Amino acid sequence: MEHQAERVQPLVDTLQRPLRDLRISVTDRCNFRCRYCMPEEMFGSNFRFLPQDKLLTIDEITRITMIFVSLGVSKVRITGGEPLLNKEIAEIIRRISHIEGVNDLAITTNGSLLKQNARALKDAGLKRLTVSLDSLNDERFGKLNGRGFSAQHVLEGIEAAANEGLTVKINMVVQKGINDQDIIPMARYFKERGHTLRFIEYMDVGNSNGWNVGHVISNKCIMQTIHEKMPLEPVESNYYGEVATRYRYQGSNEEIGFISSVSQAFCHSCTRARLSAEGHLYTCLFAAEKVDLLGSIRSGATDNEIMSIISGVWKMRQDRYSDTRRDQTSQRVKVEMSRIGG
Ligand code: SAM
Ligand code: SF4
Ligand code: SF4
Repeated sequence: MEHQAERVQPLVDTLQRPLRDLRISVTDRCNFRCRYCMPEEMFGSNFRFLPQDKLLTIDEITRITMIFVSLGVSKVRITGGEPLLNKEIAEIIRRISHIEGVNDLAITTNGSLLKQNARALKDAGLKRLTVSLDSLNDERFGKLNGRGFSAQHVLEGIEAAANEGLTVKINMVVQKGINDQDIIPMARYFKERGHTLRFIEYMDVGNSNGWNVGHVISNKCIMQTIHEKMPLEPVESNYYGEVATRYRYQGSNEEIGFISSVSQAFCHSCTRARLSAEGHLYTCLFAAEKVDLLGSIRSGATDNEIMSIISGVWKMRQDRYSDTRRDQTSQRVKVEMSRIGG
């Protein structure tokens, strides 16, 4: 088949970063309204989400993923919006997990629908997933997710996934004065259950979350807070482009990670491409520009033509937004995170 055309040279961008990861958003919808991502005043009842016929189909997702794999991608993450709102999620996982060359497949989910989906995801071939959770406290969590959804329900989803044998990591975003009191309870809870907790610094994604640097608690500060109560030691990084700085609780094998996109940008080794639910290719989480891959596909482009569009885009890629955030954040119109996932 065409998409198995031989790859001659590793594809690198203008900063010599290879294309290795693909993040695919399988819906732009979400059942939460986290303020930092989809604030209710912007994503309210009048907001027009994408109609079904504008979304990537399973066949299109599979085809595009195969093309990306032939260009060097080996890691795929399914995201959203909330990916478990896509009723075909298990079939999407099944198809991607069967693509030769995909060595790592994961989902990022808010966990609200995980309990009832854990078995189907596992049966479809998923081995690991990330659940986003910013507090164990039901009242605070209900406010954070904007829908009064209980943390307990997410915890039950995590347990169901772990019981199916899935490896679960937890992502927590800390906002100063909002959920900083949850740092230690979260660390304790997930250490006891053997799930790696990772802290993601609060970022200026999209155009409407009202971000300002004063709301960010740096990961260095979070690490010190935890270290004082539960001593940590560093763990060597696993591979080029690993975004989390890893630590282990002293005297145990349990790990904790820090993704410091604001205080210690890692653009120099960013190997991620992003595909929105409507099939647009973005080369940065903060991108203002995109390329309409689905449009090309639906106009009849061949696999080789799609390959050359993607490689052309990647070769020209210059993105390093987090390195230059201070100069840009107020001026730039960016893609919304719920369109392309985290
Ligand atoms: N709905 C799924 C979820 O929440 O896991 C997947 C999509 S969500 C956009 C992916 C990740 O982005 C989540 O872990 C979320 O916490 C993170 N995120 C969203 N807005 C953020 C922000 N402003 N700063 C840092 N992380 C953010
Ligand atoms: Fe939904 Fe995830 Fe965004 Fe929260 S972070 S609004 S759960 S897409
Ligand atoms: Fe990659 Fe863009 Fe994030 Fe830098 S800002 S790490 S280029 S996604």
